[in-house]
Amino acid sequence: MIIDSIQAAIGQTPLLRFTAKDFEEIPEGSAIYAKLEYLNPGGSIKDRLGEYLIKEGFNSGKIKQTTTIIEPTAGNTGIGVALAAVVAGLPTIFIVPEKFSLEKQALMRALGATIIHTPTEAGIIGAIKKAKEIHAELPDSYLPLQFENPANPAAYYRTLGPELVTDLGEEISSFVAGIGSGGTFSGVARYLLEKNPTIRLIGVEPEGSILNGGESHGHEIEGIGVEFIPEFLTDLPITQYATISDQAGFAMTRRLAKEKGLLIGSSSGAAMVAALEEIRQLPHSSQVVTIFPDAGDRYLSKDIYTRENYMAAHPVK
Ligand code: PMP
Repeated sequence: MIIDSIQAAIGQTPLLRFTAKDFEEIPEGSAIYAKLEYLNPGGSIKDRLGEYLIKEGFNSGKIKQTTTIIEPTAGNTGIGVALAAVVAGLPTIFIVPEKFSLEKQALMRALGATIIHTPTEAGIIGAIKKAKEIHAELPDSYLPLQFENPANPAAYYRTLGPELVTDLGEEISSFVAGIGSGGTFSGVARYLLEKNPTIRLIGVEPEGSILNGGESHGHEIEGIGVEFIPEFLTDLPITQYATISDQAGFAMTRRLAKEKGLLIGSSSGAAMVAALEEIRQLPHSSQVVTIFPDAGDRYLSKDIYTRENYMAAHPVK
């Protein structure tokens, strides 16, 4: 395959099938399909969003050739936006809470980005506030704001949803995916619902996120979990939220590396735990789809694959 821009390598990621021979929780005839989004060129599902936000910004006139892009991010959206911005020749500034991995920050910088830190304690809400302040002060800047911008779910409604239906058909029993901004979940869920109105929708969060009514606190699983309910989830017929412990999420992440050769991040491990919980309750011959959003090498400095007891080594602040 010959391509003329790295952007052309985004999407069309494979679906890895797991069956009863892989996990005892999977009934005979049923399968979990994991969309390997870590194989995107920037290493995450957010390359799709970066490409879409920059394209949409140019189309709507919000971005000109001189515009600086500003965005609050845990890192993967920053990498995705930076990738698209580099190709378009635009400068980027990302507002990142301190706790997020050094590798993601190094990758954003490698793509020419400037990073401004906000305190971990201020959470993503603190990063959003800071981004709005910088945007207000900097003329000719654009703040796509993934947490509110309908272009976020639209990016997934238009790309990832259709890819799933092309590969699997319309008979998907359940869609199980992590929720950070909620863009991936709501965009894909809305597309799949149009094809199958009875599909079960399972949102995945770490303990410390509030979707199941739990108290907000720190967690080590990166990229998912919310401090406020994303507007994108309003009006979606969500079947249930699965709240996964750091311990269970990391144990599954390590297992998938050691047993299946999957070099994925901890939000993928959490999604797999939830997908297994889901499929064991479903009748035989069910198809569950989940998403593996990013690559694990961006968490090596956090010993993602090496510490037997990750939590003991990295107590939550
Ligand atoms: N997993 C990882 C590793 C992520 O970086 C993100 C995005 N923050 C997600 C899952 C969740 O994606 P979304 O923001 O679309 O809910």
